[in-house]
Amino acid sequence: MDFNEFILANEVPIRLGFFFGIFAAMALWEIVSPRRYLRTSKVIRWGNNLGLVFFNSFILRLVFPAAAVGMAVFASEQGWGLFNYSDAPIWVAVLASVVIMDFFIWLQHVMVHAVPLLWRLHRVHHADLDYDVTTGARFHPLEILLSMLIKFAVIMLLGPPVVAVVIFEVLLNATAMFNHGNVRLPKNLDRYLRLIVVTPDMHRVHHSVEDDETNSNFGFNLPWWDRLFGTYRAQPRAGHEAMTIGIHTFREDKWCSWLPGMLAIPFVGKVQDYAINRRQWGDEHEH
Ligand SMILES: [Zn+2]
Ligand SMILES: [Zn+2]
Repeated sequence: MDFNEFILANEVPIRLGFFFGIFAAMALWEIVSPRRYLRTSKVIRWGNNLGLVFFNSFILRLVFPAAAVGMAVFASEQGWGLFNYSDAPIWVAVLASVVIMDFFIWLQHVMVHAVPLLWRLHRVHHADLDYDVTTGARFHPLEILLSMLIKFAVIMLLGPPVVAVVIFEVLLNATAMFNHGNVRLPKNLDRYLRLIVVTPDMHRVHHSVEDDETNSNFGFNLPWWDRLFGTYRAQPRAGHEAMTIGIHTFREDKWCSWLPGMLAIPFVGKVQDYAINRRQWGDEHEH
């Protein structure tokens, strides 16, 4: 059995192993050294956020059983995509594929903020009133499916080595749990770390209720795209402890903390109202 076959045969245990290992490490770190006080009950939020994660895994396996890795195998069998035509050494192809796929995830994230219809899906991620490791995996199932379709398209064009897709999926999952962590990092360490990876303090800015802060730091993994495209913001104005997490339009536990409400969020309100001015619609909704 060669390396590729081994990775393919053990893709699920590899991914689950990393998921549970990093999740446990982050959960422990959050208890030992939390960055902010949690606003809502951890038991309720975790039960519902993780409920959504398991529901999504189930739906995803049902709709796309082969997932991104299956698409990479298919593309290589068909000879589709850039790297199935190039003679680049495998390590170059792997490295470049991971970086390029990360760019497209960043671009997708910018788009789900910019396009009102897609923002309706993505606001499930942002409606969390607290910010911790479970926020990192909390997405509406329709956004998860959309995300997989975009990955399929990128893989068809790119033809990445299969192992690159596994590395990318594991890395994205790991960094998403890391940078949504409610954890305290020494300031100096954060400053250097965020040159190579998105840190919790960097991504927390993106979860601010303030529109200009939400529209910054779109990266989940590599921090370079935000710096390159001018969407980088170092810190929240109010500071990490005093800043308000979430979105103006949804502040009640019914929507923000309970699974049925989260699943319903995309279908609440009129698209155009929300598109014109988030803040305005939010104020009307609240008062
Ligand atoms: Zn976002
Ligand atoms: Zn996030």
